[in-house]
Amino acid sequence: MMQDPQSLAKRSLRWAFASGTAILAVAIAVTAWFGIFQSEQLRCIDEEQAFYRDLVQCRVTLASLDDRLSQPDLSAADSSDIEARLVLERARFAESGRREAIRRGGQVESWLTEGKSGKAKINRESIGLMLIELDTMISASIRKIADSSSSIVSALHLFMVFIGATLFTIVFATGRLMLSNYRHLLVPLNHLANRLTQLNRNIPESIHETAEATSTILSDPDPSPDLRYVTESVAGLCRDIEEKNKKLDELYIRDEKTSLYNYRHFKEHLIIDVERSKRFGDCISLAMVDIDHFKQYNDSYGHIAGDRVLEKMAEIIRGQCRVTDIPSRFGGEEFAILFPKTDRHMSFEIAERLRQIIEAEPFDHEHRQPEGQLTVSIGLATWPDDAADWYSLINNADSALYKAKEQGRNRVIAFSREPGDPEA
Ligand code: GH3
Ligand code: MG
Ligand code: MG
Repeated sequence: MMQDPQSLAKRSLRWAFASGTAILAVAIAVTAWFGIFQSEQLRCIDEEQAFYRDLVQCRVTLASLDDRLSQPDLSAADSSDIEARLVLERARFAESGRREAIRRGGQVESWLTEGKSGKAKINRESIGLMLIELDTMISASIRKIADSSSSIVSALHLFMVFIGATLFTIVFATGRLMLSNYRHLLVPLNHLANRLTQLNRNIPESIHETAEATSTILSDPDPSPDLRYVTESVAGLCRDIEEKNKKLDELYIRDEKTSLYNYRHFKEHLIIDVERSKRFGDCISLAMVDIDHFKQYNDSYGHIAGDRVLEKMAEIIRGQCRVTDIPSRFGGEEFAILFPKTDRHMSFEIAERLRQIIEAEPFDHEHRQPEGQLTVSIGLATWPDDAADWYSLINNADSALYKAKEQGRNRVIAFSREPGDPEA
């Protein structure tokens, strides 16, 4: 079943829009996550670096106090200065606020808590232990900063891979779509356009070929729905035009009232047949058939009844002709029959048989005719004996007809030259 191309086009548009929106939403979400993650990691690094600086400063201060304590001649003033410096350093270090990073139950922790209450006994041994702890904490802090930095780098790598994959997906999908459009839409469309251009140049010869070519496009297993629609329309149009052309051809060569050939077709045939006969030495005969006293019939019973007679006569004439003969309506109530490759004798026989059949045929109201029946008079002429060209063949068949009328009608007269007649 053929799907509505508009709904198909809408569906594929909707699908492209939905998948495009989904890809965009995922890209935005991943970028947002990456931004949040990165700023969190940077904040941690900032915090850790501040702590690291505090640790280093504390270690430097303790190391210098340890140096001073190691002096052998330490005065009481020096001792109280060291004491004061230790209190200050403890207060400054306690400000860093990173208690969770300090080892539980360690020397530094007790220095910070007990020192505050004034219970701490600071000597070189405890300072040495604090220096070891501070070294460990400095190393841990460096590791933490390095870990956070490498997390940022890893996340950045992942983000780059994601962006690359997204771009690749978009480029690949678009490329596939374009390739498919090119293969299933642009190429056949171009093909179709070429056929239509040819058609435009050469109507109607190529109309059949165009219909065939469009069927080839439709035989593609996967044509785009829009293209299928356009192609089927063109194929339908071609078939339509072809059919109408045939009808037009018929109308062009047929007489509307009798369906015999019209004068135009008769004349074309006559000219061609005479030329062919000149070349091959064949003969052609022409019969001019005229209904006797037809005006009277028309005057008495009307033109509609007269037309019925014309139709019936045409049917009889058609029935008596061979396939190669050209029975035609010459005009009014006159018929002309062309007998190709037929000599005078043979054409006379056919004409006489036709006359007898018409004479014997019952027609409506014919008993009121002068002879009590509807009859025809027939004049015959044969090429090349009676004429040198097509129009003198008509003229001479006509003059034979005139003689048939003169001699009493309802008869067949073949053309014969009167003594003194000019050569046709
Ligand atoms: P004749 O025996 O000498 O041929 O006499 P006629 O009356 O047939 O000859 P004429 O030429 O005087 O008249 C021909 C008539 O044919 C005149 C016209 O009414 C009739 N006629 C011509 N064409 C048509 C037609 O298409 N339909 C009808 N019904 N009559 C036609
Ligand atoms: Mg007439
Ligand atoms: Mg007549």
